[in-house]
Amino acid sequence: MDKIKSVEAIEGLNGRGVPTVEVRLTTEKGIVTLASAPMGTSKGTYEAFELFDGDPQWYRGRGVQKAAEHVNTVINETLIGMDVTDQRAIDRALCEADGTLNKRVLGGNAILPVSVAACKAGAASVGLPIYRYLGGETVTRVPDIISTMISGGAYGQSGLEFEDYIAVQNRGERSFAFAAHTMAAIRHNLEKKLVDRFGVVADDGGAFSPPLGSTREAFDLMLQAAEECGVKDVISLGLDVAATDPYDSEANVYRMGSTVFEKEALKQFYLGLAADYPLTYLEDPFEENDYDGFAQMTAALPGLRIVGDDLFASHPVRLKEGIARKAGNTILLKINQIGSVSEAIQTAMIAKKNGIGITVSLRSKDTNDDFVADLATGIGAEQLKLGSPVRGERIAKYNRLLWIDRELNK
Ligand code: PEP
Ligand code: CA
Repeated sequence: MDKIKSVEAIEGLNGRGVPTVEVRLTTEKGIVTLASAPMGTSKGTYEAFELFDGDPQWYRGRGVQKAAEHVNTVINETLIGMDVTDQRAIDRALCEADGTLNKRVLGGNAILPVSVAACKAGAASVGLPIYRYLGGETVTRVPDIISTMISGGAYGQSGLEFEDYIAVQNRGERSFAFAAHTMAAIRHNLEKKLVDRFGVVADDGGAFSPPLGSTREAFDLMLQAAEECGVKDVISLGLDVAATDPYDSEANVYRMGSTVFEKEALKQFYLGLAADYPLTYLEDPFEENDYDGFAQMTAALPGLRIVGDDLFASHPVRLKEGIARKAGNTILLKINQIGSVSEAIQTAMIAKKNGIGITVSLRSKDTNDDFVADLATGIGAEQLKLGSPVRGERIAKYNRLLWIDRELNK
């Protein structure tokens, strides 16, 4: 058995140059692991609390020195001497030291990287790769990748209605190397098409943000790009509407791009897209409290993954509510929404037991930490939402998946 010797943190930076908590955990036998907290852009109401310092002179209020200090003091004192393989006890101790339901005292951004660093050290202490440590002998396959190619909504300057226009991979028995190649090929081809047409095109987190006129135009371009590089038959299309952001609760309408949708009109819009395009994935079609709207879409489009991101917030209680109401058939699992490894696994187990699909996701302001690649593989998620293969914070996960795929297919 190996025990935790110390947990330390610094105020590091994420892939957008914004502060994040980076943790270093050391065990008595000398294992050292690093982990860092990712951060979202379109965050839901029900996510774990992120603690920021609020000093306008320091990273415009987004400093995380207090959260890092909590790791260096309270959390360090709490975890010293604990068995590093007892992930549940470690996460329970973290939650108890915080004492709130949404981790608002110590900060979810302090607790999560400690939990992840402990999981990495636990795996190392028993000599297993993390995916095997989490999933045992059941693990046979890395997930399929889904990748945002064009962004609109709150992300892009494109004026497009929705947040993510996604290439969904269905690689079947092919290797993950093929998956990485597919996404890279589509992205490169799409870039060429957009640059030929518009000149310089804004790029938001690896996805393009071109001034296109409509969702259909975006889909047509993506399909053309895939066809021209010979991979159209292994992809389908997806949308992350991220409908909470454009929802105007007073008027009960969705304000998207230049269009104002009533709920029924938005539903009809989705049905039209599903009729005309190979759409297989629809995330957050309605705002985060509209379980009924999700249930309607799930019933209307049974062949699609109807995915709850802000709806479920990776939370077991919200997922159970969704299951009872048949609202959605897939959960988007983001570890920092719920805030610890054990709780994320608990949510994943509820999903599995109830036939709910799992799409693990990174965050749009992520770091080079590749833990989600192991987590998604270890829990047997069918999909991992990664973005296209550019920029360090995404490439780290792609490369980790390439290694895992090699190990699984030896
Ligand atoms: C997402 O919804 O897939 C996503 C990455 O969102 P966020 O910007 O909140 O991380
Ligand atoms: Ca989302």
